Amino acid sequence: MSGIILTLNAGSSSIKFAVFEAGDAPSAPLIRGSIAGIGSTPVFAARGTGGTALDGRPFAALDASSSHDAAISLLLPWLSEQTGDDPLVAIGHRVVHGGRELTGPMRITPPVLNEIERLIPLAPLHQPHNVAAIRAVARWQPDVPQIACFDTSFHATQDRLAQLFALPRALSDEGIIRYGFHGLSYDYIASALPSHLAPGKDRVIVAHLGNGASMCAMRGGKSRATSMGFTALDGLMMGRRCGTLDPGVVLYLMQEKGMSAGEVATLLYKQSGLLGVSQLTNDMAVLEASADARAREAIELFCYRAASSLAGLVPAIGGLDAIVFTAGIGENSALVRDLICARLDWLGVLLSPSENTAGAARISAPASRVDVLVIPTNEEAVVADACRAILNGANCTSID
Ligand code: AMP
Repeated sequence: MSGIILTLNAGSSSIKFAVFEAGDAPSAPLIRGSIAGIGSTPVFAARGTGGTALDGRPFAALDASSSHDAAISLLLPWLSEQTGDDPLVAIGHRVVHGGRELTGPMRITPPVLNEIERLIPLAPLHQPHNVAAIRAVARWQPDVPQIACFDTSFHATQDRLAQLFALPRALSDEGIIRYGFHGLSYDYIASALPSHLAPGKDRVIVAHLGNGASMCAMRGGKSRATSMGFTALDGLMMGRRCGTLDPGVVLYLMQEKGMSAGEVATLLYKQSGLLGVSQLTNDMAVLEASADARAREAIELFCYRAASSLAGLVPAIGGLDAIVFTAGIGENSALVRDLICARLDWLGVLLSPSENTAGAARISAPASRVDVLVIPTNEEAVVADACRAILNGANCTSID
C-alpha cells in the first residue's frame, strides 16, 4: 500500500506526531515531532529522516490562546507540504482509556467516539485532549480514516485477581476495576524483548518511567499485572501525580479540611508527585541537577516507591528474569536506575555501574541473576502498525 500514516498523541499541553510509510513493512518514521507548550508558549520541533530539523515557520502563528484544534489546523497542511503527493491514508491516535468495551485498535465511528468521550472522567488529564484531536482531524480531513489505539488494551490478558479491587462485587461488576495504562509502550517493549533475552527468560517487569510512570509484569510478553489501576493516578509516584495513596487521606481532605472533589483532583493530579515533594519542578533532569535537599528527597522517594512496586509485582509472574527501563527517565537517568536497582539486590539484581552510566542496552553486571535492560520505547510504531493492519483488512474489534 502506498501513502502515509500519521500518528497523533495528544496530551494536556502537547501534541506529539509521527509520519510513517503505509507500506506493509514496519519502518522508521519519515517525520517525528511535537508541538509543546499548547496553552502557554507553543514550541514546534520536528525532524525528518536522518535527523534533519524541519522548518516549522507556520507554527509561529500559535500563541498562548491557541487551542489543540488550532495546532492541528496548522499541522495537517504543513504535513502535506512535507510529504508532497503521498496521500494521507490513515490517522492513528493514542487514546488513553478504552474501558471495558474498547479492547483493541479500531476505526473511530460515532459510537466509538461516544464511548471514548464517556470515559473522560476516568482519564481527565489525557482523554479530553484525545477527543479534541479526533474532532479536529475530522473537521480538517473528514475522509481520512481515523483509528484509535488504547493504552488499556494491552492489560486485557490479566487474570481477574490482578484486576479486582477488594470492593463490593456490584462495583466490580459495573466496571470499577484495575485497567492499567501505558499499554502501547508495553506492547512495543514486548515485541522487542525476544531480541534481547535468551529463550525461556520470560518473567519480565517493564518500568515505564516518564512524566507519567507505571510498571507492567509480563509473562511470555503478556501483561499479568500492572501498577496503574482504574485511573492513571494509581501506582508509582509521577511528575505531578501522587501515585498510590491511602484512600483515607482523600476522605480526610474532604471531610476535615473541607476540600471539594475538584480541589482534591487538582491536588492529586497536578500538584503532587515530584513537583509536590520537591516544591521545585516535576522535571527529573532538573531535580537531579539541583542542590536543594527537597529535590534529593523527591528523587529518593520516587526510587524507593518504584522498587517497592516492582517487588510487589513479582508474585504475579512467579519470579523475575529481567527488568526493562524505558521512557524519558528510564531511558536517560542512570541515577534513578541505580537507586531503584540498589534496593533490589536481594532479588538478584546487580548493575554494572559503567554500563549503566554509559547508557548501554544491557546494564546488569555479568554476575546478576536478573538481566537489566534499557530499551527506548516507540508507541508511535505500535499505532502505525495497528493502522497498517486495519487498512489491510485485519479483523478489528468495534462497537455499534
Ligand atoms: P517522558 O514523559 O517519557 O517524555 O519523560 C519525561 C521525563 O524524563 C522528565 O521528568 C525528564 O526530566 C526526564 N528526563 C529526560 N531526560 C533525562 C535525563 N537525561 N536525566 C534525567 N531525567 C531525564
